[in-house]
Amino acid sequence: MHSDDAARLSPGEPHRISAGLRTRFAEEFGRDPDGVWFAPGRANLNGEHVDFHGGRCLPMALAHGTYVAAAPRQDGLLRLRTMDPELDAGVQTLSIAAVDAVVGGDAGGADDGEAPVITDVHTLVPGQVSGWTWYVAGTLWALARLGEDIPELTVPGGFGADLLICSTLPIGGGLSSSAALECSAMLAFVALATPLGAANPGTALDAALDDELRAHLAAACMRAEVEVVGAGTGGLDQTVSLRGRAGHVVSLDCRDFTVARLPADGLLAEHAFLAIDTRQAHWLGDGQFDDRRADSEAAMRMLGVDRLRDLLPERPEAGDVDAALARFDELAGGAGLAGDAEALEGRSTAACRRRLRHALTEMLRSEQLDRILTGDGLEPTTAAVEVGRILTAGHASMRDDAEVSFPAADALVETATGAGALGARLIGGGFGGSVLALVPRDREDAVIGAAARVCEEQGFTAPRFLHVEPSAPARVVG
Ligand code: ADP
Ligand code: MG
Repeated sequence: MHSDDAARLSPGEPHRISAGLRTRFAEEFGRDPDGVWFAPGRANLNGEHVDFHGGRCLPMALAHGTYVAAAPRQDGLLRLRTMDPELDAGVQTLSIAAVDAVVGGDAGGADDGEAPVITDVHTLVPGQVSGWTWYVAGTLWALARLGEDIPELTVPGGFGADLLICSTLPIGGGLSSSAALECSAMLAFVALATPLGAANPGTALDAALDDELRAHLAAACMRAEVEVVGAGTGGLDQTVSLRGRAGHVVSLDCRDFTVARLPADGLLAEHAFLAIDTRQAHWLGDGQFDDRRADSEAAMRMLGVDRLRDLLPERPEAGDVDAALARFDELAGGAGLAGDAEALEGRSTAACRRRLRHALTEMLRSEQLDRILTGDGLEPTTAAVEVGRILTAGHASMRDDAEVSFPAADALVETATGAGALGARLIGGGFGGSVLALVPRDREDAVIGAAARVCEEQGFTAPRFLHVEPSAPARVVG
């Protein structure tokens, strides 16, 4: 066995995972689940911290993701257990009486005395709650809201469910385990609670969920994370988890959430994407991500636009980025260049300018990648070199302008490119998470070996490796 095999995270075999989860569910809840649903994590080629500015993102759905086994209840309770060893604290019970109230049912089950957590999910204040169960409760809350507008997604009063959750993703690793949790739970809730689920039993739900419905569900999952959990996510993760396609990179225009699916087979004929989980877990809810976002929004307001994407033309060039930065400097009266004046809404003007530059160059890189992957005539090897160059440029921007990188990520990018990767960058929100590298297939082992070594030598936690295979979106496993 190769010495680094233990550090490779396998996506596993879905039907075997599903069978195991069904058995555990029966042990835990004393009955069989009605089904098992899966939603993938994602790796984002480019487009970090720009989804909420209307920028373009280029994510792929992974083969790795989160599985939910579930069965409905009639008492308005959610009973949840995760099999993640670090988060598992046995079955967690939450009242969802407020969800019933939203859809006009009676608020049954709220006060039966057995629920250790009774919080009104309807009146939550962003950031008020913590803990993984709120990703799930928030998803049901958001589905109930959606059902007010879309009758086939109505959630009846008194609906509750037992859920058992397991994931093949690193949790908090920048590969979007949070969206995978929301989206897999969302499919379970749609299947178990709604008229659409009742009319499309089993795997029929996959086809019934057309792209338009999936877009609505992605928006609802995003609401769960933003409004219930209180994290500043912009919808990228949920969109690719529900709307990705096997063998394709999703080109997501966050101005209107339209997607194009761009074939990756040419690029990946001789190359592979490798995700390196630094195992420095991040926590988007703790304010640092939001702080970066607030900097960029202060710049946005000074420039008089509602979203930074509007500063660039449809097909931007480097000169357009320079022009927008020059405009910022003009408005800041030079403060953006001169040190750390606390001039912009109480924020450092220089820091706001760096966030602005990250957002603008990141949006430019996305448009460049979109053109390459759409097939602008480059032959595959040249295209791969160009994609690699853009990846590494993206890392420099994450490090120097967004300022969300950290020593292990910087060392891994340098090491991966030194060992033959065409390019590498930090992906996800930052402050932890994963590095994505584009690697010639015959260099994958060498890159993995070098990455493992550099972490050992420099005293970083031993990383884990995921082969990134652009995969199918959230679905019924059966
Ligand atoms: P990422 O999405 O990059 O993995 P986040 O910080 O956005 O990182 O989300 C991680 C959080 O999502 C965890 O701290 C936990 O609250 C929740 N979560 C994700 N997957 C699971 C799981 N399988 N079981 C329980 N909670 C999970
Ligand atoms: Mg997340």
